[in-house]
Amino acid sequence: MNISTYTIKPKLPNSLKPLEELARNLWLSWNFDAVQLYIRLDYDVWLQSQQSPVRTLGMVSQERLAEVAKDDSYLSALNEVYGRFLKYKKGETWYRGSRKDVVAYFSMEYGMDVSLPIYSGGLGMLSGDHMKTSSDMGLPLVGIGLLYRQGYFKQYLNADGFQQETYPENDWYNMPVERKNDKNGNPLKISVDLAGRVAVAQIWEVKVGRSFLYLLDTNIEENAQDFRNITSALYGGDKETRIQQEILLGIGGIRALRALGINPAATHMNEGHAAFLGLERVREIMVEKHFNFDEAREVVWPTNIFTTHTPVPAGNERFDIGLIEKYFRPWTQTLGISWKDFLGLGRERVYDDHEPFCMTVLALKMAAYANGVSKLHGEVSRIMWKGLWPNLPLEEIPISHVTNGVHPRTWVSNNMTDLLDRYFGTHFNDEPTDLAIWDRMDRISDEELWRTHERRRERLVAFARDRIRQNLKRNGAVERRIQKAEDALSPYVLTLAFARRFATYKRGNLLLRDPDRLLRLLRDKDRPIQLIFAGKAHPMDMPGKELIKEIIHFAEHHDVESRIIFLENYDMTMGHYLTAGADVWLNTPRRPLEASGTSGMKASMNGVLNCSILDGWWDEAYNPEVGWAIGRGEEYEDTKLQDEVESKALYDLLEREIIPLFYQRGRDGLPREWIKMMKTCMKEIGHSMSSHRMLMDYSNKFYFPALKNYRRLVKDDYTEAKSLAAYMTKLHQSWDSLKINKVESNSKPVMQRGDSLTVSATIELGALKPEDVLVELYHGTVSNQGNDITNARRTEMKPLGQQGNSYQYQVRIECADTGQQGHTVRILPKHEALVHPYRTGLIKWA
Ligand SMILES: *Cc1c(COP(=O)(O)O)cnc(C)c1O
Repeated sequence: MNISTYTIKPKLPNSLKPLEELARNLWLSWNFDAVQLYIRLDYDVWLQSQQSPVRTLGMVSQERLAEVAKDDSYLSALNEVYGRFLKYKKGETWYRGSRKDVVAYFSMEYGMDVSLPIYSGGLGMLSGDHMKTSSDMGLPLVGIGLLYRQGYFKQYLNADGFQQETYPENDWYNMPVERKNDKNGNPLKISVDLAGRVAVAQIWEVKVGRSFLYLLDTNIEENAQDFRNITSALYGGDKETRIQQEILLGIGGIRALRALGINPAATHMNEGHAAFLGLERVREIMVEKHFNFDEAREVVWPTNIFTTHTPVPAGNERFDIGLIEKYFRPWTQTLGISWKDFLGLGRERVYDDHEPFCMTVLALKMAAYANGVSKLHGEVSRIMWKGLWPNLPLEEIPISHVTNGVHPRTWVSNNMTDLLDRYFGTHFNDEPTDLAIWDRMDRISDEELWRTHERRRERLVAFARDRIRQNLKRNGAVERRIQKAEDALSPYVLTLAFARRFATYKRGNLLLRDPDRLLRLLRDKDRPIQLIFAGKAHPMDMPGKELIKEIIHFAEHHDVESRIIFLENYDMTMGHYLTAGADVWLNTPRRPLEASGTSGMKASMNGVLNCSILDGWWDEAYNPEVGWAIGRGEEYEDTKLQDEVESKALYDLLEREIIPLFYQRGRDGLPREWIKMMKTCMKEIGHSMSSHRMLMDYSNKFYFPALKNYRRLVKDDYTEAKSLAAYMTKLHQSWDSLKINKVESNSKPVMQRGDSLTVSATIELGALKPEDVLVELYHGTVSNQGNDITNARRTEMKPLGQQGNSYQYQVRIECADTGQQGHTVRILPKHEALVHPYRTGLIKWA
């Protein structure tokens, strides 16, 4: 069949033209009054469109459009919103520097709006908020991702509570994406080589306020069916599809930017999925500059940033060598390195033939900047990957952290935003990086805050009943049963929500561990609680699906179906209702497996109090004035014991603290102490967990230094890059001949604080010069075993005299700490263009 295709666009009256532009910019996803314009067009159509502004415009009748075009009140609302949009796009921003060099941000998924379902969960939400925030701040950042033909699966439960999945088809012509064309109006295309065959991809653009996101799509005629399927589903398919997706994202992504005329001066790999981009950047420089692999890598490394997202070993992608060989064998020729060296890029133990190829390792080896996503996750990541830096003390492993954040305008409910806007003023919207604005929480009256929160709880209950009714209908329940949905939940009862992926380590069923104790709380006449669960299990995760079933059965069996609700198909819309309308946000992971988590931050900014294991972000944000901690950050070998202890702690908290505090009402009916916690929580977490804080961190710690490195390295036809590469080559060749011969000091067995101590060392530099190396005295408290220095300080030693290639180094320090002290000497690389001296294998201890 030969089908000619064309796109038909709705015909908008002139006065409504801005609706078209607004619908195609995701700015609207964090500006509720803009969304309202589409709801006002036709509420039924809006619901049918699945809350898609673009689709709504296509579906609304021409008569209705003509009518609205003459409605003064509608037009004035439209003009007001459009005016604000234009002002936003032109307004001053936090970043005011050059836009010539950009940071390219790579992620497998983006969660920005329900109308663009190319996300599955936390990682996508984070990339979505990253894009929105970079727009607010005016950062020179573009996003790269894939456009999936199918959205992530929709979850529904059969009558027995067992999870089933459906995969919705996306219709891009009715989504906020636009295909990029070349000068002649033909689709812009790039290609990648996949095991000897060529896969072609077209490029779609998504406008996110001022910023742009580009999505690659292989579902085009030129491709054979298997290649068309590369972008068919997010995290669908087998390992082979997965490696093809990652080649497309990393390598194709760089090529797409080139095709668009954008120079990715710095790159940010959000998760290891995008790590192949490092190889493509190296290849480009080799071709253009005739550099060898090592030289080109010295340009890429200081301009590459990697964020790791999971401490769960299985969450770190690994490919069998056979698969890597199939797709990357030709790359050894392109890159001019041996096959073993190539595989070594993805291995912890470079020459271990049995080790698979790990994307996290590749990313760590190709990026000077690496981070975990909370303080605790930074620590855990340093332990997890320390093998890559043999002999380097743990605290110096170059993986730091930037704690995740959430975009307040997206996640604070519209009712609460109205209230905050009134008290915080226009500044809150116009200068989102001014985080001190949250201090104004103290000015908000208790009554108003509580009324706003209660309104959100009512909205949540109404939303839940509506969903339950729909689901019962779908499962063919009788009318009497459907009517019962009206009894589900109460808008006046203390509401606990648990919404997250149903993976066993998150323990969605922890609260069910002692049924009698839970039932007492649920059935309490005066001070009851109610629970709302939501979340998807991975389609292959049977234990995860069992957890969901267990909850459903528990509610049925004990006849508490009005107090325990499982809401199907957790997505952004539901996330909004839950994180704004619950009273307590529950989280029970096995520490330290939750890297950060962001839903609890969304809750906090809405005044919903967290009750959580001290894991991820909560480990650093918790204090008794903003919420509750289950346990004190213990870690367990025995998981049964852990469940026992931690479920008890959770019941105790509920019985002794949370329930009494919530129901302790004054004569005016207000829970004053609870409201006080809400305010402190909003103030502190609004301040510390805003995505604007997160992006200021990324910018100051990584983006700006990386862009600066780029400008420096490429200046004068890559002069500095060449010198750095030559230095690194010399260093690798000479490193083994470095010797620390004699370390001497004038220390006495007992000394006093304030005494000075001189240490000298004789060092053979071989072919190196003193300016090539950093010689350090490493000193501090000696551990009980006497073989380790803790709380170490480092002081650079200076060369004094020279005898042949033997140098006398010396340093004088003041004894500052008391107790058992000690020192040793070590050598590290030193070059002014080096981002940090911690290169794999290049450290020498006395
Ligand atoms: C915020 C959000 C997440 C991520 O939250 P976690 O705390 O990491 O579980 C996942 N899914 C949806 C729909 C969200 O809104």
